[in-house]
Amino acid sequence: MSATFLGMPPFPEAAKRAVEDSRTRHNLHKATHTIRAKRTRVVDELGDDWQRLRAEGERIKTHTLRHLDHYLERLEESVQRAGGTVHWASDAAEANAIITRLIRRTGETEVVKVKSMATQEIELNNALEAAGITAYETDLAELIVQLGEDLPSHILVPAIHLGRAQIREIFLQRMGEWGRPAPPDLTDDPHALAEASRVHLRELFLRSKVAVSGANFAVADSGTLLVLESEGNGRMCLTLPETLISVVGIEKIVPTWSDLEVFMQLLPRSSTGERMNPYTSTWTGVTPGDGPQDFHLVLLDNGRTDVLADTVGRQALRCIRCSACLNICPVYERVGGHAYGSVYPGPIGAILTPQLQGMSSKVDEALPYASSLCGACYEVCPVAIDIPEVLVHLREKVAESKGHVSEKALMAGAEAVFGSATALDAVQRAAGLARGVVPRHLPGPAGKWTDTRDLPDVPARSFRQWWNEREDGR
Ligand code: SF4
Repeated sequence: MSATFLGMPPFPEAAKRAVEDSRTRHNLHKATHTIRAKRTRVVDELGDDWQRLRAEGERIKTHTLRHLDHYLERLEESVQRAGGTVHWASDAAEANAIITRLIRRTGETEVVKVKSMATQEIELNNALEAAGITAYETDLAELIVQLGEDLPSHILVPAIHLGRAQIREIFLQRMGEWGRPAPPDLTDDPHALAEASRVHLRELFLRSKVAVSGANFAVADSGTLLVLESEGNGRMCLTLPETLISVVGIEKIVPTWSDLEVFMQLLPRSSTGERMNPYTSTWTGVTPGDGPQDFHLVLLDNGRTDVLADTVGRQALRCIRCSACLNICPVYERVGGHAYGSVYPGPIGAILTPQLQGMSSKVDEALPYASSLCGACYEVCPVAIDIPEVLVHLREKVAESKGHVSEKALMAGAEAVFGSATALDAVQRAAGLARGVVPRHLPGPAGKWTDTRDLPDVPARSFRQWWNEREDGR
């Protein structure tokens, strides 16, 4: 059985453990800083155009989400017109049942997979395994995670937490159980590791009759689906098998082919820090004599329409899964992806997972707090998702659901003080007088905040007092 996030502890506990793992922290620091620097270089070279592209990306996505019902129906018609079959799945169980049924119909017991967040979200591999079907991940990082019975820790680079030596060990120990073994003299040289996976995967590509993919985008007008990737494994899965099943979240739609012009510039620059990605595969229904002759599109809701109903939170559905917000996040860099307890880690995970799953569990209600609210995620997001705004919005919901009267009273008090110059002055004078007795650690539940930090010293005079005294020439 593949590993699962089920049963993971809430973020504060998981993060505490994660920061103690110095090897993972080292791997993450190195990887995120490398990708971050590459992204900055290729974004900066566009100058002001970048902000215009970003605004256009935001506009297209917002427009599409506002008219999603219309574009979904248009996509369905286009795919059917091109010879494909469309299935609607309201949740993970329904999607897994549809996919299992489609594979069983072919008589096959194994499938190759293109890297797909949607299939991870619905835990498709586990569902297929329970039905006696083996799913082989073909993206290199996904393969490493699968062979290592590990969990993905990054949207784009699921094995980002692992170093080369660890990957070599996994290949040597586990590859043989899944197919062609790694050569016994395998080194941790990246070329050797890539070659071992290439040889291992090629056998699977050549014998598999069914492939499962996701899609980065689905074009409503033409029914075309797109996958952007770096290794070519996706291209193999999308062209060689006889049956192709694509599982796509309903938010992945763009209205027209020409809208892709914007996203083809935004996505590679934000994700891998490249001007364009090495492989962009597109497919439209079925083409006689060329590629899979049986094509199925499974459109997945799984909580997305609930997210759409939230006027603040719905912007999370604009996400194009570039992972720039993960790579820039100071929290993610230190704790890694597993601490978020979900396939969507980092800042986007902190707002998407609790909205998709609801905030009824301790794991989900802790996620909106997994951020320092520094705003770096918003700055880099290519579709301008205001992640801090959604985080605060979700925190408000958590506080409301728990009836946190003290938090509300505290905020009302803060509003009264900061809303009046007289009140602020009075409080600052009182704090200045009491500075000698202000504790370094707060009592009660607020003490959690000072467990890991000291309260700052209260100055003898406030800035206003200092300024007024200076003006008075005293
Ligand atoms: S929220 Fe924005 S930056 Fe983060 S993965 Fe999604 S599109 Fe990229």
